[in-house]
Amino acid sequence: MECHQLVEKITSRIKIGYSRTLSYAGRLQIITAILFCLYNFWEAVFILPRSVLKEVDKQWRDYLWGNKEDGRKIALVSWDKVCVPKKYGGLNIKNCAKWNMASVGKLIWQLTMKQVTLWIRWVHGLCMKDSEDFWSHTPPQDSSWYWRKSNSLKAEMTHWYHNGRYWLTPNGKYSVSSSYQALLNNVQRWKEADLVWSSLLFPRNMFLLWLASRKRLLTKERLGRLQIQIDSTMCELCYDLKEETQRHLFYECGWTTELRDKLETWSGIKIEGKEVLQSIRWIKRRH
Ligand SMILES: [Zn+2]
Repeated sequence: MECHQLVEKITSRIKIGYSRTLSYAGRLQIITAILFCLYNFWEAVFILPRSVLKEVDKQWRDYLWGNKEDGRKIALVSWDKVCVPKKYGGLNIKNCAKWNMASVGKLIWQLTMKQVTLWIRWVHGLCMKDSEDFWSHTPPQDSSWYWRKSNSLKAEMTHWYHNGRYWLTPNGKYSVSSSYQALLNNVQRWKEADLVWSSLLFPRNMFLLWLASRKRLLTKERLGRLQIQIDSTMCELCYDLKEETQRHLFYECGWTTELRDKLETWSGIKIEGKEVLQSIRWIKRRH
């Protein structure tokens, strides 16, 4: 199959017009619920060429951040940070290249464990002449692209094995998620994740809270910094002639301060913190 046809197959659903009018949270749900199923299928079966992985990533990225200002798509958070699980601060979208490697790793694991499947028997009989160990095997120059590519992934995959046994799961059974996690570099647990992604909130609120906690809300000040043409970067809620920054909107703006004071009086709870993340931490400490 031609590469562009494969990209088309994987990404065709995001070109459906209605989904482009959704909010960030809506688009995220489309990506995780629909596209991922398709993508999961293609990735589990094939090692995808780098150009395909790059193009699919790009189309997903453009789709997620699809709001156009001045004809540009504004990525509010870098794709690397988006492509990690929510408990590590991301949106749990899979990085194509890493997920593909983790998925194909299952075939390699089956090969290593000499499991009886048609593909394994074919590989052992045709490519490895039945006698060799996969880890010490060197693919001949005239072998297929797929076989050479499978072997080129060995260097990364050997870290998942100890004395020939897959050690990322307690029972030694292969797990695509565990392998994927091993491929994510230096991700740290995000302590506030369970509060931001709380089941008590609507998806749209969760997404905005996630953006705010990363200081990535699309405020006027940020639009100005991204050199998007706007009439003014001043806050329109108050008469203080202050720039519309995230900090101003949440903590300094006269309009919001008045509203917050009324809410605090009404509820009898005074929320501390000078930034969104500080306030979230304060709420977390009280639970
Ligand atoms: Zn203001």
